[in-house]
Amino acid sequence: MPEIIADDVVVTIDYILRSGGGEVLDQSDAGDPLTYLHGHDNIVPGLEQALTGKKVGDVVQIAVPPEEGYGVRDPEGVRVIDRDSFPPDAELTPGINFVAELEDGEQVQMWVVGVDDDQVHIDMNHPLAGVTLHFEVKVIELRKPLAGELAHGHPHGRTGSEHHHH
Ligand code: ZN
Repeated sequence: MPEIIADDVVVTIDYILRSGGGEVLDQSDAGDPLTYLHGHDNIVPGLEQALTGKKVGDVVQIAVPPEEGYGVRDPEGVRVIDRDSFPPDAELTPGINFVAELEDGEQVQMWVVGVDDDQVHIDMNHPLAGVTLHFEVKVIELRKPLAGELAHGHPHGRTGSEHHHH
């Protein structure tokens, strides 16, 4: 098993993510840690960098600026779209995100931020764009990736045995 966190190591962590004001924004559930493949953009760059070289049992506290987190907010990322542009059965509630194709063919992720009778307000900024991310992370486990995980660029669960569709 790998001794330290480096590229192509499958890393399992417990984490708490707080805002600058101390509000908990996200965290791994008790007994259900997060597993990711290091060096494959599975987690935000600032956190990945901070974890490089760490060992099982290490605790890392780091403030990740937006530039190394979910990006800075782009005011032009907020759009209002006619309700009719969406399929009638589309689930449109605030917080839902989906992938849309722009005129130039680029695929972008969008979040629904508001819905009224005939319009949908969407934001192409990640909900945590512009936010400095205060992470507290404990390294739980390290292992080598299986061939399929390396090919996919992400782990298949903590042990590598989880199946999924692409
Ligand atoms: Zn996969």
